[in-house]
Amino acid sequence: MMPRYAIFSDVHGNIDALDAVLEDIEKKDAVDKMICLGDLVGYGARPVECVRRIRQAKCEVVVGNHDYAAVGKMSLYFFNELASEAMLWTREQLGKEETAFLDALPLVYEDENMVAVHGTLVEPESFGYVLSDVDAVRLFATTEKDFCFTGHSHFPCVFIYDGGLHLTRDSRIVVPEGARVIVNVGSVGQPRDGDPRACYVIFDSDNRLVETVRVAYDVEAAAAKIREAGLPPALAERLLVGM
Ligand code: ZN
Repeated sequence: MMPRYAIFSDVHGNIDALDAVLEDIEKKDAVDKMICLGDLVGYGARPVECVRRIRQAKCEVVVGNHDYAAVGKMSLYFFNELASEAMLWTREQLGKEETAFLDALPLVYEDENMVAVHGTLVEPESFGYVLSDVDAVRLFATTEKDFCFTGHSHFPCVFIYDGGLHLTRDSRIVVPEGARVIVNVGSVGQPRDGDPRACYVIFDSDNRLVETVRVAYDVEAAAAKIREAGLPPALAERLLVGM
């Protein structure tokens, strides 16, 4: 029996969104494995709680660029002003345990059915994006797997390679035998595709089925926590519109 996966990314310290997603996954029975594609922290007001919740949930986790920055493995030079201000705040919140957990995360997860990474498999530690056809082709060239899962852009979409390359935003895709896909699973805690609902993906490897799921959650509560923490108000506003 090939497993069914729930795959999510870019939680960004948003505990309200994370809890809603974990609850939704729980309701769908027959999920055998959960995978988190990184950026547990950064931007949101509950980084410690998010790290703890994900540890409890016993999922496979790969590291994101914000996790890298949180433990000092990446300079804030690469961050814009908002992200950088939030990251300085986040570093102060994290305790020894959370920091050690983030510090030990691998860059890539791989099993017989798939490969998963925060940005791209091309130099995963530089956290490039997969936005264009060129990015997608370069990623396909680094792996033999039919199924590759990424996050990082906070924009759910699927690149399909079946001799030609197509980009789709269909929420339910059955990948034909012989075709390969790069699935961007969107973001739990800070969607940027104009839909404020949290996003994750169900992957049924037996049936080569990829399904993008949206989950409504209390966005106002998450925004209020950001304002109360004294983080930049723009980080609260963007949650309300999903940008
Ligand atoms: Zn992110």
